[in-house]
Amino acid sequence: MTESNLNVPKTERCAFCDYLSGRRPFTILCRSEKIAILVTREQRGIGHVIVIPVRHVPTLLELDATERHALIDAVAAVASAIDNAFERPGIAVWQNNGTAAHQTIPHAHFHVAGTLPGRSTEFGDVPELSVEETDRIAAQIREVSDNLC
Ligand SMILES: [Zn+2]
Repeated sequence: MTESNLNVPKTERCAFCDYLSGRRPFTILCRSEKIAILVTREQRGIGHVIVIPVRHVPTLLELDATERHALIDAVAAVASAIDNAFERPGIAVWQNNGTAAHQTIPHAHFHVAGTLPGRSTEFGDVPELSVEETDRIAAQIREVSDNLC
């Protein structure tokens, strides 16, 4: 597939590829041949995860059909797991392409998060959790669903 016309952030290294390779520690909830689900250290909701293709692809526009299908299946499965684990009244799913859309990491990804008490999700500053804390969130999600990827 050809490159898109979108402007994506320029970074020396891809953070998501570094997490998948183990170069930088991060909580990987699960991983298959095509996709992985990460627990972000910037929790903008209750049980906020990131669903990514394993292959480095800058935006939604460069994904192939098998990746697209695997990603939406994983988004739906983890949304259901978040519903079971955290009993939130809403679940937000969002996906940004290009710097104009506020994409910050140039590797296609979907956010999935249970809503915060009394409102949706937090788009301002949030504290950065430790990997131990995001590991605990992953354990809570795994407790209700052990087959997400
Ligand atoms: Zn990448």
